[in-house]
Formats: sequence, structure tokens, C-alpha cells
Amino acid sequence: MAVDQELLEILACPICKEEVKLIPLTDQRRTVVRDKYREKFRGEEPVVEQGLQCVKCRRVYPVVSDIPVMLVDEAFDDA
Ligand SMILES: [Zn+2]
Repeated sequence: MAVDQELLEILACPICKEEVKLIPLTDQRRTVVRDKYREKFRGEEPVVEQGLQCVKCRRVYPVVSDIPVMLVDEAFDDA
């Protein structure tokens, strides 16, 4: 399970338009994100291990089952 490298290079923070870097999420954050997305995945367990952190504002966007969720409302302040 990994985010495609070419996709990573074109992703940007929607607020700053700066690049984002893959970082591991803490167990606590993984649980919170997994619980939040479970109902949207219709019974399939979402895989949550990493996030994408903006190099400028440090916001972290979750990666759910290899899908980067680059939405301001879904971002959090730390991993
Ligand atoms: Zn940013």
C-alpha cells in the first residue's frame, strides 16, 4: 500500500499551494481517521497509516486506503 510517487509530486496543500510530504501517523490519529471513514467505506475497513504534511503550514491531510484526502476540512494540525 503506497501513494503513487508521480501523484505525490503533483499534490499540493489546498491552502498554501505548497508541496506535501508523506509522514507516518500516530496510532491515536490512525484510529480517529479510521473511525471517521469507516461508514463511508460501506463496511470495508479503511487503511490509515500515513498522512501528507504541508511543508509550509504543517497541516496534515490523511491518506485513506491510498487515497490522499486533500480537503481543508479533513486536515488536522499534527500527525
Ligand atoms: Zn499548507
